[in-house]
Amino acid sequence: MNIHEYQAKEILRKFHVPVPKGFIVTSSEEVESQISQLQTDIFVVKAQIHAGGRGKAGGVRLAKSIKEVKQFVHDMLHSTLITHQTSPMGQCVRKVYIEAGSSIKKEYYLSLVIDSSSGKLTFVFSSEGGMDIEEVAINFPSKVTKISIDLSSKFRICDDFGLHSKQVEKINDIAHKMYEAFIATDASQIEINPLVETSSGDFIALDAKMNFDDNALYRHPEIIALRDYDEEVKEEVEASQYGLSYIKMDGNIGCMVNGAGLAMATMDIIKYYNAEPANFLDVGGNASKETVTEALKIILSDNKVKGVLVNIFGGIMRCDIIAHGIIEATKEMRISLPLVVRLSGTNFEEGKRILENSGLNIIAADGLDDAARKIVKEVSCLS
Ligand code: GDP
Ligand code: MN
Repeated sequence: MNIHEYQAKEILRKFHVPVPKGFIVTSSEEVESQISQLQTDIFVVKAQIHAGGRGKAGGVRLAKSIKEVKQFVHDMLHSTLITHQTSPMGQCVRKVYIEAGSSIKKEYYLSLVIDSSSGKLTFVFSSEGGMDIEEVAINFPSKVTKISIDLSSKFRICDDFGLHSKQVEKINDIAHKMYEAFIATDASQIEINPLVETSSGDFIALDAKMNFDDNALYRHPEIIALRDYDEEVKEEVEASQYGLSYIKMDGNIGCMVNGAGLAMATMDIIKYYNAEPANFLDVGGNASKETVTEALKIILSDNKVKGVLVNIFGGIMRCDIIAHGIIEATKEMRISLPLVVRLSGTNFEEGKRILENSGLNIIAADGLDDAARKIVKEVSCLS
């Protein structure tokens, strides 16, 4: 689960990581009554969306007066911000964060992630903050360091960056606090980019991103409460409520598959035949009439979809039962688009026979290759 910058800073503040003072607004009228608490005359106005790269896209602006703050808030709210991390459609700005501005001497990068290859918590530190760490790693590899740590609070980072001991101490102090926040909240990532050194020599987190381990969220109702559904794809949220994993994409062939690996293979083979999948959809282990119906509804709510490929492996669930489920769902939803179905596993012959005799616009396929060719042919005939 992902949260906004202002929420991540709120959490980090509780763990004594230095962050600028700030407050959140959803209208420019709210600025006046709260701004005095910042006790400054340089402000930063920041669009809150679940994506970075806002600075370059006009989503982070420095303001020198309250009038300017109000103007920027007004301009940003309800505008669409397109950054390299949003979809090409961009993301609507519904909240704006206003902070006391900092005077920057230098920008650093500091994050704490789980390195899946070593299975260890790993700090990533760079003397070149403010930019994408991926770019720094490619262009200036010597300026990025990774420090894996054991599950203990005894570690030291950035000793070898030519920094003064005072600076190293301050950065390490922040790293230890980040570590505490990470463990206490079951985070999966904390990224501070930039971590800045101010002109007075203090270190402060100017940006903050936190992700959490979804499997541990049940332990953190206070974090679940921070979820902002407006930032998520509506269909993906709906799918998750039915236990379906759905990711929307740009193509025109809807895919309904059980198992993430099979879903990936299905998307690959569609691409292999020069077509584009409209989505990734894993119905999980239970391909019942109800889940099939919900899955088809979600797939067909995307009006780019011109045909659907159903690729189900019947293990515990028998293919004849799945075939009945698909037929009932197709009738109930009066689906007229071509539906190619490939069933494999227990009772697949029976499943295929049921589909062929349904009298509906369902094309039964043998094997994944045959299925992919058939749906691509159907869809290309339509367009
Ligand atoms: P991102 O572009 O979405 O990652 O947003 P950031 O919060 O990282 O802000 C982008 C950039 O804006 C930072 O790298 C800074 O250079 C600049 N910035 C943000 N806050 C301040 C501030 O308080 N003072 C100054 N001078 N620049 C800031
Ligand atoms: Mn940033």
